[in-house]
Amino acid sequence: GLADDEVRMKIVLAQPRGFCAGVVRAIDIVERALTKYDRDIYVRHEIVHNRHVVQSLESKGVRFVEELNEIPDGSVAIFSAHGVPRSVEAEAGGRDLLTFDATCPLVTKVHNQGRRYIAQGRTLILIGHARHPEVEGTLGQVDGPVYLVEKLADVQTLPLPIDTPVAYVTQTTLSLDDTRAIVEALTARFTDIIGPETRDICYATQNRQTAVRELTQVADVIIVVGATNSSNSNRLREIGEEAGLPSYLVADGSEVNPAWIANAEVVGLTAGASAPDVLVDDVIAALGRVKPIEVSVLDGKEERINFKLPAELATA
Ligand code: SF4
Repeated sequence: GLADDEVRMKIVLAQPRGFCAGVVRAIDIVERALTKYDRDIYVRHEIVHNRHVVQSLESKGVRFVEELNEIPDGSVAIFSAHGVPRSVEAEAGGRDLLTFDATCPLVTKVHNQGRRYIAQGRTLILIGHARHPEVEGTLGQVDGPVYLVEKLADVQTLPLPIDTPVAYVTQTTLSLDDTRAIVEALTARFTDIIGPETRDICYATQNRQTAVRELTQVADVIIVVGATNSSNSNRLREIGEEAGLPSYLVADGSEVNPAWIANAEVVGLTAGASAPDVLVDDVIAALGRVKPIEVSVLDGKEERINFKLPAELATA
């Protein structure tokens, strides 16, 4: 009846959400290279972890590969935002390739930090997820003893005497809470330990985690737009779940299950740092096909961070 039609499901958008400065820069590097150079453009690994972004660049002629040896001589080669090991930089340097590094400056900062700690004679502990390309990059950017800690339990099994001089760095897109707990356990175990606390977790990850936590105060379901291989997107979904709300990660509107929102009055919607706005709009449209909706945005932090492009592309 009429009364039912008047009840609209609220969709509340987190602020900030979606693209961070590192993702904007990485995509910009590929697009400017495409405009400037009359050569084949190859990107090693997904430029950012999002199928939609990759496919839209592919439709403009960009090719994506996993390894440098798949890139023919004479091409432009671009490294993804996640960073690469030094061995990859060295291999590219020895080839006839025009190379651009789209590694996020905040990832590079972690590489430099790790190298400084090792230069001070410390054993490095990297807190992060095995096999994530950022972790593979960081492990391969330092020459010296480095151990990976993925979870709290790993701290106790590190094969190091407790008085080993150690230092830790972290992946940029971890859970703030999990990382804090791991750092506390490391600090409790080792007698000579230094590190940047959780400051390696980048501003974008921190802001999006804070915003989704605020969203959990007002919503009864959380939907995160992002790819299953996107670390920061997965962490956003976990925060919803830890707050006791049903929380889902979707690539786009086609993955929205109407059953999730059957009884929902307020859906909290956010997006990972690599998920474009068009996909958020697509999810809103999908929700709107299930029932009448009303969209609003939560108050939140405004981000004004921009990263410089490589000089050769700044004017392209
Ligand atoms: Fe850089 Fe953070 Fe964005 Fe990763 S999530 S690209 S570290 S700003």
